[in-house]
Amino acid sequence: MGHSKNILVAGGAGFIGTNLIKSLLDQDHHVICLDNFLTGHRSNLMHLEDNSRLSILEHDVIQPMDMQVDMIYNLACAGSPPAYQADPIHTLKTSVYGVENLAQLALKNHCPMFHASTSEIYGEPLNHPQQESDWGNVNTLGIRACYDEGKRAAEALLFDYKRSHGLDIRIARIFNTYGPNMQADDGRVISNFINQVLRSEPMSMYGQGEQTRSFCYVDDMVEAIQALMALASAPASPVNLGNPSEYSMLEIADTIASLLNCRPQLVFKPLPEDDPTRRCPDISLAQTLLDWSPSTDLIHGLSRTIAYFKNQL
Ligand code: NAD
Ligand code: UDP
Repeated sequence: MGHSKNILVAGGAGFIGTNLIKSLLDQDHHVICLDNFLTGHRSNLMHLEDNSRLSILEHDVIQPMDMQVDMIYNLACAGSPPAYQADPIHTLKTSVYGVENLAQLALKNHCPMFHASTSEIYGEPLNHPQQESDWGNVNTLGIRACYDEGKRAAEALLFDYKRSHGLDIRIARIFNTYGPNMQADDGRVISNFINQVLRSEPMSMYGQGEQTRSFCYVDDMVEAIQALMALASAPASPVNLGNPSEYSMLEIADTIASLLNCRPQLVFKPLPEDDPTRRCPDISLAQTLLDWSPSTDLIHGLSRTIAYFKNQL
């Protein structure tokens, strides 16, 4: 990326945000972490707070903001289903008003903007693996719609800003990502399973556990996000980012139990409404465009995540 830049990371106190900020500071950039601390925590940034190139700003992206920056990363939005469903109207406002405020800021600063979209825009996928050309199959009225439809509206809004105002927008459709700095209690499957085993509790398996997801280790994701921002110009479409190795939740439970040297103990609970049955990214566009592929396999990524949560205890 060349010389040091002034970079805004909205949602920077969250899981992916803190990992991204660490990498940006390591490259000598100045970072403004803007966050309303809904799901992110100051403690996530504690080890970076001494760095004079990091400033932390408590702010909700729903409210307009003004500052001088060279680059914007927008990660602001609760990522875990229980967290984004807790105040669904706020989630929708974050994805629409918040995204518009950041788009306005990017235009004012004539700078590129990254936006974290999601595999959720594909809903219950009609094609497998999911490609960027798929239009998605989302229940517009269900309990996940605040997030899925919010992220779809954000993509539409950002592409209208691109067409109408020339916004330099780079959108990643992020597939399930995991690793250090996930909140132990935010309800996602990998953090839930690991922490349940560490507390000698059974793992909470929703449905029969046959639904699949494809999990990407956070370092690989942070590398891809920055590669997208390093492109000389914005791609014509959003880009899938994720690790295409696909596992059922039963396989995930077995793998976590074996890494923790125990037999898997499960308690079965109802499958949440509209929980997608399968999900796997086609990452050929990212591979071509970014010359990137994930390099951390599940065993190594889970081992590092387990070490992080053990240390947290
Ligand atoms: P996270 O919940 O850990 O972090 C989100 C951060 O945004 C938190 O610090 C939260 O306090 C902040 N935030 C939420 N609403 C805000 C608002 N209105 N104003 C300011 N700050 C706000 O989630 P994450 O896993 O780090 O996800 C980061 C981004 O990536 C999100 O946009 C999410 O939708 C997207 N994403 C994540 C995944 C994943 O598997 N982690 C998958 C797909 C997409
Ligand atoms: N899940 C589960 N037990 C949990 C949490 C989640 O079985 O304690 C399931 C969930 O129903 C989904 C999958 O794991 O099928 C991934 O859930 P997560 O919330 O991590 O991500 P998302 O649903 O957004 O893909």
